[in-house]
Amino acid sequence: MRVFKFGGASVSSIDRINQVAQIVRQYEDQPLLIVISAMGKTTNALEKVAESFYAERRDEALQLFDQVKQQHLTTAKYLLVKEYLACEASLVNFFTEVEWLLYDKPVRGYDYYYDQIVCIGELLSTAIMSAFLNEVDVKNTWIDVRDIIRTDDHFRDANIDWDFTQQKVDTLVKPLFAKTGIVVTQGFIGATDENESVTLGREGSDYTAAVFANMLDAESQTIWKDVEGVMNADPKKFPEAQLIAELNYAEVIEMAFYGAQVIHPKTIKPLQNKGIPLLVKCFLDPTLPGTIIHNQSISGLPPIIVVKEHQALIHLKSRDFSFVGEKTVGHLYHLFEELSIKPNLTQNGAISFVCCVDDRPDKIEQLALEASAYFDVSVEKGLRLLTVRHYTPEVLAKLVGSNQVVLQQQSPETAQVLMR
Ligand code: ASP
Ligand code: MG
Repeated sequence: MRVFKFGGASVSSIDRINQVAQIVRQYEDQPLLIVISAMGKTTNALEKVAESFYAERRDEALQLFDQVKQQHLTTAKYLLVKEYLACEASLVNFFTEVEWLLYDKPVRGYDYYYDQIVCIGELLSTAIMSAFLNEVDVKNTWIDVRDIIRTDDHFRDANIDWDFTQQKVDTLVKPLFAKTGIVVTQGFIGATDENESVTLGREGSDYTAAVFANMLDAESQTIWKDVEGVMNADPKKFPEAQLIAELNYAEVIEMAFYGAQVIHPKTIKPLQNKGIPLLVKCFLDPTLPGTIIHNQSISGLPPIIVVKEHQALIHLKSRDFSFVGEKTVGHLYHLFEELSIKPNLTQNGAISFVCCVDDRPDKIEQLALEASAYFDVSVEKGLRLLTVRHYTPEVLAKLVGSNQVVLQQQSPETAQVLMR
């Protein structure tokens, strides 16, 4: 059993969809579960629909949604002949699911509506992809993952009910492989026990694939991307970025923790728990070896560079000169949790505490307000956080260059520098 995940970029054009079919065709020798994301930038487009709807701009929402509809219908028309009518009927069903809602007035929280609207992207892309694979004789079965992945109702960041989902995988998914060796389903989405749609957090399809890999005891999971594999830096910012052929789970978790946009951070645990290797490969050239991520210990890694832009440094200074002890810091972390703020870097002094966070003005304002009971609060924005794993002093100095350093921390393995 293998599990493949194709991201939005791999199904963003007719050429690429053809390319995906070519790849899948080469792996028909074994049962294969394929998890697919929404096409191209569909999720972003659907986010706009949700925003307009929630702001009660119905016409705008409908108009934006119409663009998504037309794009998918055009793609389906272009790709399909025999399978067109059946596929169109499924697409129309999903359109109706959303349109129904768009004619209502919002009475619940934004995140709920977001999930009901945004989840459609994956349903549309997989309906088309599955039909196209059948059209070119790569026989497969399409399933609605909302019948399988059961979650709580933490909309936009739902948590999977592991036992329930495993039972559905055993009873509903496993038997399908006897019918067609290939099963196609959606990443990123699931459903609550009340059949409300949920999403698992942006870029969550990697995670969905890992959940299936775990529950199906797959021999491997492959994430197909438009890059060669995992690189030691973002090639868009660092043209000299190099491929890392082999990594282990722990290193990838660290990279994701520091903000590298390689793989969704939740992906690793389900794989690590069953020792399932993760392959990252390039769908543009499947002959390239890509990256393998597994349990081995690996030495000689190059410096791994992660840059986070749009950082804010919050400076908290004790008003009455009382020390910043466990109690105050505990209180602060409680606030972080309440506001879902994840500090990217913190430093504790005698009467001050500084923390660097992603610049989310609403959250920072709220934090500043609540903390001002104990502290003088000041915030500096527009900063950049550089993290280098396996750094050398030379590499670090070169990366910092002439930038002004605001805060710096290092362990033997990891250096972090916040710069102006
Ligand atoms: N389509 C979703 C997103 O763009 C999920 C994913 O791509 O993994 O965030
Ligand atoms: Mg994606």
